[in-house]
Amino acid sequence: MRVLVVEDEPRMAALLRQGLEEDAYAVDVVSNGLEVLEWVQSAAYDLILLDIMLPGMGGFEVCQTLRRQGYMMPILMLTARDTLTDKVLGLDSGADDYLVKPFAVEEVTARLRALSRRSGPSKTPELVVGDLRLNTATKQATRGGVTIPLSAKEYALLETLMRHPHQILSREQIIEKVWDMDFSSESKLIEVYVHALRKKIDDGHEVKLLQTVRGLGYRISDHA
Ligand code: CA
Repeated sequence: MRVLVVEDEPRMAALLRQGLEEDAYAVDVVSNGLEVLEWVQSAAYDLILLDIMLPGMGGFEVCQTLRRQGYMMPILMLTARDTLTDKVLGLDSGADDYLVKPFAVEEVTARLRALSRRSGPSKTPELVVGDLRLNTATKQATRGGVTIPLSAKEYALLETLMRHPHQILSREQIIEKVWDMDFSSESKLIEVYVHALRKKIDDGHEVKLLQTVRGLGYRISDHA
């Protein structure tokens, strides 16, 4: 899952980036409201965290503009003022939820999980392929009932693949969901992570689930 954080206060932005990355999101941060309209064109964001008081273009207007342009990803607004007017304006401009500062980062990630469940194709937090199960609420993976410990990036990679079972995802499609703007699409890191993840989920099992499709990409499937 990839999140765009729109926040002009450096400390708050850094805090959000760190908290979200620890929770396995790929995170890009912009500080100017006007930049948002360009960034959403360059990557498929699953969620947007949007501050209201921003240079360039304010959060309400950014939100309205995105909705007018047809962008439907969930938007969580961050407001410094706990006033009814702000909440009403936020929801009226097309936001899905709002959070009043100050807040704990855990609160943000909990809200984002709820929002992505609401908008996703599947309402249940569990993704299943064969005997491999991934609970997106607890971030726990099991195969044949045995827990598989995953790092944040391994989790993000597995979640991306399991959201499209049996479907081949290209390197570019995977990178777009798992890594941020600073990641080079030429990087060999994706192979390193696939290798590590494959060891964890397929070693000792007859059916190999994480499949490399030469020249095309990767998929999770229990079909050969
Ligand atoms: Ca601000």
